[in-house]
Amino acid sequence: MSANVNEFDAIVLGAGAMGSAAAYYLTQAKQRVLLLEQFELDHQKGSSHGLSRVIRYSYDHPIYRSPEC
Ligand SMILES: Cc1cc2nc3c(=O)[nH]c(=O)nc-3n(C[C@H](O)[C@H](O)[C@H](O)COP(=O)(O)OP(=O)(O)OC[C@H]3O[C@@H](n4cnc5c(N)ncnc54)[C@H](O)[C@@H]3O)c2cc1C
Repeated sequence: MSANVNEFDAIVLGAGAMGSAAAYYLTQAKQRVLLLEQFELDHQKGSSHGLSRVIRYSYDHPIYRSPEC
């Protein structure tokens, strides 16, 4: 694949939970985003993967809280 970096407003490195979320919200803000990932989609090698991961609905600091919670 070849791409001209000038075609993008943002380049996100890593398509784990953080990078994917950043890329998603950047596209929602109408930004042209290039999301680069070293492994195949849905690979199991990152911190975001594993059977022990849980999403909490309560956190000790307001910046982590979703507006829906
Ligand atoms: C064992 C364990 C249990 C955890 N449990 C919880 C939990 O229960 N609840 C919770 O909220 N959090 C938990 N965490 C923390 C949470 O999983 C991580 O904070 C979060 O997944 C990190 O997401 P990330 O996108 O930053 O990293 P990652 O998911 O690791 O994604 C990084 C991505 O970047 C890619 N990448 C790296 N370098 C390059 C490169 N040079 N070029 C291209 N791509 C690259 C990697 O391949 C990977 O896909 C846990 C973490 C671990 C390790």
